Parts: sequence; C-alpha cells; structure tokens
Amino acid sequence: MRITYKQKCSRCKKNFVLVTWKNRFPLCYECQKNDLSGEIKDPEMKKLLNLPEEYYKESSFLRSIKINYLKFGTLSEKQIEFFKKAVQKMKEEREHPKVVQEPIQFESDVSLRSLRKAQKETKAKKSKKVE
Ligand SMILES: [Zn+2]
Repeated sequence: MRITYKQKCSRCKKNFVLVTWKNRFPLCYECQKNDLSGEIKDPEMKKLLNLPEEYYKESSFLRSIKINYLKFGTLSEKQIEFFKKAVQKMKEEREHPKVVQEPIQFESDVSLRSLRKAQKETKAKKSKKVE
C-alpha cells in the first residue's frame, strides 16, 4: 500500500500537497506551474512528459521529474522507469476507480457489536466454502 502524506506547501503555505514520501519542502501545483512550463526539445522526452495537466496536478512525484528534466535536460534510467510506472498506475486508477473508503463511524457500541457479528458470520461462511 502506498502511504501518502498531506503536507502544506512550503512556498505559499496555503495549499496542501499530497506526497508519497516524506518531503521537507513540498510544493503545490500552483507554485510549481511556472517550473513545469518549459520547452522539451527531445521528441522522446516530449512523448514521455507530455501528459494531461491533471496528472501533474495530482502527483508531486511527476512534477518533480518533469522539473528535474527541464532543469538539467536529462533524466536517469531509474527516473524514467519510475515515471512510467507512476503514469501507468494513475492510468489504471482512472480506468478502474476504486471505491473511496470512508472511515466507518460507529454511533454506538451496538453497531460495533453487530459488525463484529457480521464479520464472524462471513468468516464462518468462508470457512464452510473451503471445506
Ligand atoms: Zn504552493
């Protein structure tokens, strides 16, 4: 499972940034917008980095890779590999959106008890199926 942290943008201190690793200086999309709008000459890189805006809005990782390329004009094989994987994953998530799981809130002990009971029952059903 991917662990995501919600951190406040270290530049504008206003927007929250969703990061997948502990980042001491997370920047939001709005603050990185200018850094992201550079010209890519390499056709192969253009193909790789030319993603719908939403991808960059959503992922600080994708932003960091693109900005890295625009800054240094090159990416390591590992960076390209991770970039492709991240894009692939996001594409899959878009095609098959997961049900957003809201934390279950119990109004009382009773509902908790009934849930446990239900869990036990499904467990029992499952073990029956195995037999
Ligand atoms: Zn910001």
